[in-house]
Formats: sequence, structure tokens, C-alpha cells
Amino acid sequence: MEDIQSKLIRLRNELHEHNRLYYIEDAPIISDFEFDALLRELQDLENRYPEFYDSNSPTQRVGGGVTKNFNTIAHRYPMYSLSNTYTKEELVQWEERIKKILGEEAEVSYTCELKFDGASISLTYEQGRLIQALTRGDGVQGDAITANVKTINTVPLQLKGDYPEFFEIRGEIILPWEGFHKMNEKRAAEGEPLYSNPRNTASGSLKLQDSRLVAERPLSCFLYALAGEQLPISSQFEALQKAREWGFKVPDSARLVHSLEGVFEFIDHWEEMRQELPYEIDGIVIKVNALSQQQELGFTAKAPRWAIAFKYQAEAVATVLEGVTYQVGRTGSVTPVAQLKPVLISGTIVKRASLHNADQIAKLALRIGDAVFVEKGGEIIPKITGVDSTSRGRIENKVEFITHCPECHSELERIDGEAQHYCVNQSGCPPQQIGKIQHFISRKAMDIEGLGGETVGLLYHEGILSNLSDLYRLEKEQLLPLERMAEKSVNNLLEGIKKSKEKPFSKVLFGLGIRFVGETVAKRLANSFGSIEALQNATLEDLIAEDDIGERIAQSIVNYFGQEENNKLIEDLKSFGLQLEQIKLIKKVNSAFEGKRFVVSGVFEKYSREDIKSEIESLGGIIASSVSSKTDFLLAGEGMGPSKKAKAEALKITILSEQDYTSLKGE
Ligand code: AMP
Ligand code: ZN
Repeated sequence: MEDIQSKLIRLRNELHEHNRLYYIEDAPIISDFEFDALLRELQDLENRYPEFYDSNSPTQRVGGGVTKNFNTIAHRYPMYSLSNTYTKEELVQWEERIKKILGEEAEVSYTCELKFDGASISLTYEQGRLIQALTRGDGVQGDAITANVKTINTVPLQLKGDYPEFFEIRGEIILPWEGFHKMNEKRAAEGEPLYSNPRNTASGSLKLQDSRLVAERPLSCFLYALAGEQLPISSQFEALQKAREWGFKVPDSARLVHSLEGVFEFIDHWEEMRQELPYEIDGIVIKVNALSQQQELGFTAKAPRWAIAFKYQAEAVATVLEGVTYQVGRTGSVTPVAQLKPVLISGTIVKRASLHNADQIAKLALRIGDAVFVEKGGEIIPKITGVDSTSRGRIENKVEFITHCPECHSELERIDGEAQHYCVNQSGCPPQQIGKIQHFISRKAMDIEGLGGETVGLLYHEGILSNLSDLYRLEKEQLLPLERMAEKSVNNLLEGIKKSKEKPFSKVLFGLGIRFVGETVAKRLANSFGSIEALQNATLEDLIAEDDIGERIAQSIVNYFGQEENNKLIEDLKSFGLQLEQIKLIKKVNSAFEGKRFVVSGVFEKYSREDIKSEIESLGGIIASSVSSKTDFLLAGEGMGPSKKAKAEALKITILSEQDYTSLKGE
């Protein structure tokens, strides 16, 4: 029989390969379900045999380690930057400089690549295993962010094929548009200020201390350069092909061309097509293809002579800064917004641009009346990229970030280490209150039919609605006199509010709008704590002990329940009959299940493990996590741990197969 260690190695290799097929080749050969089952089997084995721990196991993708300070480590080969060009003219001059060194007769081919806009990374592989990941840093030394990089699915942890013993590979960690937008949708739902662009979000993600959080970010990694001694390649284009063979993600957009003409075609093609790419690029990179020629050309102090970037001009337009206004979000975050003299950019009229925060204003040293450059890249909100120094506003019109809330006039606060200012007058600040009610009724929260965001604003300003619980105090007579409130819509609205009392606890919890408590976290909290009282009584430690709840979330929950007005609100909601505890639905208690203790192990064909557990509970059974003399049934799925089985046999506990289980239910 296969011993444990060989089995572990086999499983790990299979999973590495399936991971590659899925993330690199985009051509999976097993279902997600099968993949998860294999992964769980591996995880189970690893839990039971910690002596065979492997830091590069596919189970390590979920992260786990927390790094307080990233070590700074010297690059074995410096990471250079690239010289930039903006015109084809400059490329002709570049080729002339090259030919001066290589000789007029030299035949030069070029590899043309996209210039991915993310964070550069250097990966070290030894015997096919990823052993280190360094940021570019200052080019001479960078930060070791290995644990974080291991969570990125497109970074292979184990290579395949004829890779060299030891080498480095450079690339870019990027955040594709889709993932970026998803992250921002989530931020919006949580009432947090949005991320400004994928590049900053990618590099910010890499510096998170908790690698589990990095694992949740939809990052990707594209590779474009090899470094090392005696590599089995003689050109850049070959390097890309080889890297692809070894299991790296190398986009197939790269082209080998034999003249500047070919380079220009590549530039023109992507000038137009880059809008269609699922990720952002900020130009293209042209590299002399032959490594022998690269060696002859060498480096300047800053950049290789054999490579150059061609940057596309982002469409920037000059206009005038007419003023700055401030928006207060549901959580009290204050975002400055530039009011611009309207201009046409990429086909749309732009009147406003985000200024993000106080630092941004200070950096630009803005004055009202300044001529500013506004850019609209991709689908992001337009941004101000600079000030025209020849056309400044008057010095006395310097923009100073406000000190008090524009809506409720209370003093703003800024938490150390955060860029955002907050209005902390949660209960008395109109946009925060309106925003909170709008969030509460929104589709993903209480989903109250017949009531929309605008009506909430209207009712608030009429003085009928001043916080969440007022929703449940609304009377027909108050609403009928209002504009656009016919009898029918009033009835619908009241009916919708009444129905919302049946919404499950997790939705109510999400609807409360506690900072950082999004949909998923709310579900998790509802399941683990079971009731609002349990949450009100939970300490920081209790909360952190829960999977997926980090310090930031935990602290925010403790703060929330530390405020009297919030507890008052909850009392009110309770008195109106909202669901403030998790209901365990006992469908119909089945006598074969009632009071019986079940241990569930392995994977099942027709159920997920979670589903089967909740079914058992709904039939009156009790779920236990380990086998003991008190266990009545061990429900054994595929790949169940042999030690559990042995223990159950020794204790003479009934072992049920999936089929036995179905018959036990009486089906
Ligand atoms: P810059 O930061 O403007 O000096 O440009 C150099 C950076 O471009 C490198 O450090 C890489 O992070 C990035 N880059 C993106 N795509 C490529 C590519 N295909 N080849 C080389 N560098 C690239
Ligand atoms: Zn305020």
C-alpha cells in the first residue's frame, strides 16, 4: 500500500497540476467540486501528519501567516527601471544608439511586450520550488513578501519540465479590472471609500500583514524576465516560451519582430486594443531579443540599454478648478471632490474629479482657480494628475481641508495611519443617517420592497424617519399626505416593512452597517455567535478567535456595541419583532436522529459537508467534531481519515455510508 508520505506527494503534485490547468492554461480537467474534495483530502492528511509539512503545499494558498515587518533583502541581480519614450521618433533614435554599439550591419530583432501596470516582483526558485518573493524596493534591495505571494494562484509553487536548478524570474503582480471592480462594489456596500486604481490596490495588497487577507484579493501574476547563471536560453522570446513551459503565466500577447516597423505595428495595435484588455497596461516594452546583443549593450546606471518602454499618453485635458466640495458617506468618511469647469474627456463631459483625501490635496498644493490636468483612465472616476504651474490660482485661495463636517458641523477626526477623515457624529449627521437607512433597506440587506433610497431621503427630511427603528414606527396617516405617496404605494411600503421582520438574523446584522461587517462576515458571525446578545457580550479575543475575523473587524464590532445608542437601537428592533437570533430550523424531527450524536468526515457525492451537517441538525441530531464513546454515528464520506475510522471501530460505533444515511432518513 502507498505510504502516507508518497500519498501526500502524489496529492500535492496532482493539485499543483490542476491548479496550473485552471489558472494558467484556463483549461481545467476536473470540476471545482472534485478539486475541493482533493484539496480537503490533502488538508486532512496534513493535519494528521504534521511531520510532512511542506511550505509549498497547495493548501498554503489560503495564507495564514502574519508578518509584522517584512525583511529587506538584497537582490541577487538588481531590478532596473526602464527608460521611457512617448513617440516613435524617440524609438528611431534609440535604435540608432543601439546600432552605434552593435555596429551598423548588426541585425536586431525585438521582443514586444505589454507593460503591465502593477507591482514588480522577483521570484526565486530552487529545485523547482518557490523559495522567495521580493518587491523591487529601490532596485538594489526589496522586501520579502513570500507568504503573501504564495497565496496568488497564478504564481506556481512547484514548477514542471526542464527548469534550471536555481534561477530568478521577474514579473508584475496585477489586479485585473474584474477583481478591482468587485472589491470596490464590496467597499461601496460597506460604506468605505473606493480604491482609486488597480496598481495601487495591488501593491497595497502585497504589503498586508495578514496573508489570509491577501489570499482573498483577486491578484494575478504575469512573468516577463529570467535572471540567473547558464540559463537554457539565448533570447528574450525563448525566455518567455520556456517560462510558460515551466508553468508560469506568460500572456501570449508578446511578439517577436525583426524591425522597428514591426514594433510600430505592435504599438498601433495595442493603442486601440488596450481598452479591451481585462487588466490595465500603461504602455509597451521593447526588448532587444538576442541575449548576446543584450550583453554587449549593457546597462546605464538606471536602466538597461537594450530595453525601452513606450508609454501611451493617457488622455489628459486641462481645465479650471472652481471649487472643492466634501461628501460624507454612510460611515462618516469624508471625501473631497473637485468641482471643475466642464470639459470633454474621452467622449464624456467631466465636471467633477475625486481628490480622495487630504494628503492628495496637500500633494497637489491646490488653489481654487488653478489650471489643472484631468485624466480619465479606464473606467475610473476622473482624477487630477497635476497643476499647470504657469496658470495658478491666487495664493490666498489655497485649498485647506475642512476641519468640521459640512453637514452637521461637528469636528472631523482622522485615525492615525489612515488617510481618510471621519465625521464621528454618527447619530446626528444627516447623510450618515440617511446612508445607514438606505443601506439597511438595500437588496443585499433587508431588501424592503416598496421603499427606495430616494424615499428614505424624503422621509428623513420630512422628519418622519430619523433612524432605522423609525421604519417600524411608520403609520399610514403620516405617509399619505406626502408627495408621490398614493394609497397603493403606501400600502406596499408598509407591507414590505412588515415582511422584513422575517428576514434572517444575518441580513439584519449586515443591515446594521457595522464598519467592515460585509455580507460574508455577517453570515459568519450569525452562524458562530447565534444571537445579537452573544455578539454584544463578545470580547475582542472571542471575536478574533473566529475564522476570518481579524483584529480590524473585531475592534469595529466591539466599538459598535460599546455605544449606547446602538444598543438602544437593537432593543427597539427587538421590540418590533426583528430576527436577532439565528433560527435553527427543525424541519421535522426524525426519531432515528433525535438526540443522536453524529461525527461527519470525508466528502460526499450528493451533499457538501456543511449541507449534510445542517440537515442532521434539522432532523434533531447533534454534530460533534471528534469520535468519542458518546458518538452514535460516524458518517463516513470519501477519503475519511483512517484514524477516525479505527477509533470508531474500536469503540464499536456505527459507521454510516452516504447510502446508509439516506436509508436512515427513511428515503
Ligand atoms: P518604470 O516603473 O516606469 O521604470 O518601468 C519599469 C517597470 O515596468 C518594471 O519595474 C516592471 O515592473 C514594469 N513592467 C511591466 N511590464 C513589463 C515588461 N513586459 N517587461 C519589463 N518590465 C515591465
Ligand atoms: Zn457630520
